[in-house]
Amino acid sequence: MEIKETTEQSTIPTDDSKYSMQTHMIYGKNVSRKWDYSHHVVAPISSSVIFRLDSVERGAEGFREFANSKMLGEESIPIYIYDRLGEPNKDMLEENLAYIERGEMAVTFATGMGAISGILGVLTKSGDEIITHKTLYGCTFSLLNNWYPRYNIKFTPLDLTETASLKDIITDRTKVIYFESPSNPNLDIIDIEEIRRICEEVNSKRIAGNFIHIVVDNTFATPYCQRPIELGADFTIHSLTKGIGGFGTDMGGVVIGPSKYQDLILLYRKDFGAVLSTKAAWTVSTYGLPTLHLRISQQIKNAIVAAEFLNTHPKIAFVNYPGLPEYKFHELAKKQMRDYNNNFAPGSLIYFGLKGKDSIERKEN
Ligand SMILES: *Cc1c(COP(=O)(O)O)cnc(C)c1O
Repeated sequence: MEIKETTEQSTIPTDDSKYSMQTHMIYGKNVSRKWDYSHHVVAPISSSVIFRLDSVERGAEGFREFANSKMLGEESIPIYIYDRLGEPNKDMLEENLAYIERGEMAVTFATGMGAISGILGVLTKSGDEIITHKTLYGCTFSLLNNWYPRYNIKFTPLDLTETASLKDIITDRTKVIYFESPSNPNLDIIDIEEIRRICEEVNSKRIAGNFIHIVVDNTFATPYCQRPIELGADFTIHSLTKGIGGFGTDMGGVVIGPSKYQDLILLYRKDFGAVLSTKAAWTVSTYGLPTLHLRISQQIKNAIVAAEFLNTHPKIAFVNYPGLPEYKFHELAKKQMRDYNNNFAPGSLIYFGLKGKDSIERKEN
């Protein structure tokens, strides 16, 4: 039977007799037909940091094509060089993440914080300003509050659930509006379409290249419950460590957004180095994404029961849950938190306070 050679690699002749037995023991049979990425149902885990380039020309082409989407068409086979630049497990995960978040492209990172640093690093430079919602994930706050002053990047926290003052706070130097919705931990909901409307007004008076971008941390909702890009965000970021990864075994992050930013984000990731490991990419692709709808839809059912129980409990001061009709952001949540079948998907997280003298009720409400 004739075996048809389908990949470029398998056509490369190797003269095994040229190598000593010791070399064979280290590298095995260098080129094999047994690796069949296009027909494995579950993708193999790539554990190769470096990739064989076969010729100087192929190497040069690989370096020219890296982060150069104009050269590398959608359909062409990438030339992998070194894991920090790119490899198959991450690339395949990125295709799937962009698709489920309804964005044009995705770039993964080692952690959620890697993704946040990545997108903010690409969108800002010294002298710029970032406006955020007043409640932020703790490490995002620390990044902006403790580290960004060193780069002369200012950050202004604001209550973005009230957009009346936003236009007055925006300056010529404002480059990013950044928030979580629902926010971690107190589940504030921010009207993404309204923030978009305000940004459009401001951007219409700016020259292209100097626009304000909206970045939404969609970690709490997951794309199952909400797709901020459809509502007007420019970029979505996720901690893959949480809902998307789902099993608590690996860390990861992702930035999803317009294709024209992909090259810049890849270059940033290459140089700042927060690259997702192939094993983590494989775990998210193999276990996280295929179970996302089952896990989140069941978690929503459970959360509704738990939130209703807490809501009537005599020792509970308040319950913030987007699915509770009494919750002050319920109507807004109903508008923007929708699953793929357009059902209300209020998410799986609940924030509540206990009654008592140290209750956080006074601080929060
Ligand atoms: C956990 C979390 C992050 C950070 O993600 P890591 O993967 O831990 O770096 C960012 N945003 C939100 C809302 C989170 O909950």
